Amino acid sequence: MRVLPPFRSYVLVSRQQIAENYRNVRQVVGADVQVMCVVKADAYGHGALEVARVLVGEGAGWLAVSSVDEGVQLRCGDILEARILVMGGFLPDEGEALVKHSLTPVIHSLEQLRQLDRLASATGRSLPFHLKIDSGMSRLGTRAGAREIAAALGAVRHLALDGLMTHFASAADYTTTQTADQLAYFHSIYAELRQAGHEAKWLHTSSTNAIGYGRSAGWHNMVRAGHALYGYVSPARGEAPRQLLDVRPALTWKAKLLAVKEIPEGALVGYGGSFRAPRPMRIGVLGAGYADGIFHRLSNRGKVIADGKLTSILGTVSMDLTTIDLSHTARLGPGDAATLLGVEGEARLDAQQIARVAGTISYNILCGISARVRRVYV
Ligand SMILES: *Cc1c(COP(=O)(O)O)cnc(C)c1O
Repeated sequence: MRVLPPFRSYVLVSRQQIAENYRNVRQVVGADVQVMCVVKADAYGHGALEVARVLVGEGAGWLAVSSVDEGVQLRCGDILEARILVMGGFLPDEGEALVKHSLTPVIHSLEQLRQLDRLASATGRSLPFHLKIDSGMSRLGTRAGAREIAAALGAVRHLALDGLMTHFASAADYTTTQTADQLAYFHSIYAELRQAGHEAKWLHTSSTNAIGYGRSAGWHNMVRAGHALYGYVSPARGEAPRQLLDVRPALTWKAKLLAVKEIPEGALVGYGGSFRAPRPMRIGVLGAGYADGIFHRLSNRGKVIADGKLTSILGTVSMDLTTIDLSHTARLGPGDAATLLGVEGEARLDAQQIARVAGTISYNILCGISARVRRVYV
């Protein structure tokens, strides 16, 4: 008998697969383009510290997180050599930690540029930062014109413009010109800043989709890869070119059966009795529910893999329990595991398939696997 990890629900993360995905991204963009590895949101549910260790071991020189807190956690976990970009910038009460832990902030407004300059002057050091341009997504980034930006850059005393960046809203969508429009705007700002004497060492605008679909005009000398490291590229809309990335999911999610039983025809399953057995059935009760990240929307819709076959979720997903159909097998009992995401036998379920049924995106499925689910590294 195989020995399973001693947890009701757990995620197996393949270090090897993370490393292979990283190498694949590097190979696609080529040696002249630095790959910044995005490990925000606990590395999309894979565990930021472990993933960062693998990537740094593979030679990654840059990591990206969302918040100062995420960056501090990496530093406290002994990720000391790699540069860490804090993409979500910093709030006034986070400035001290930012400097103390040598995190590199993304600056989103000229007001924040002046704030950072004051902070830097108090430390007596020159601080590197990346400036984000809002090129048309209307999320973070400055909408100021080039002249105004150049004037603000000219006025700061203790800062070094290390990178200039923007973010694409629709890189997998070939039914719109939004990406080309964003890139043109970004290039026009950069050209004017250069004319005014402001060079940036790193230029970066592309994340996974712009890498995978080969939008190489947006690669410059750095790309920011997140989803690809975890084995995914979003499906395209419209007439997309050939997919360049060959990456695979690195995560398998399991839950153990707490009970297996027979129910008669007509039995109602779960809250609200929303499933009625059309015939006598064998069912299994898994020790994982929406508190673990199984979307409630998967009630009566989603699938899991049990004994190597796709089978249905019956009734509503509860907080800690999910009931599944085991009529196809007599081989599973309490303590045996079913696969919520991953490959088992001939059957496979990835985050994109689950997302389609749950009415969301694959990122949401991965990030939704809650902290209660133990991560096991293999
Ligand atoms: C999350 C994020 C990324 C990574 O995007 P993926 O699609 O996961 O590769 C890159 N840049 C920014 C600004 C982000 O917020």
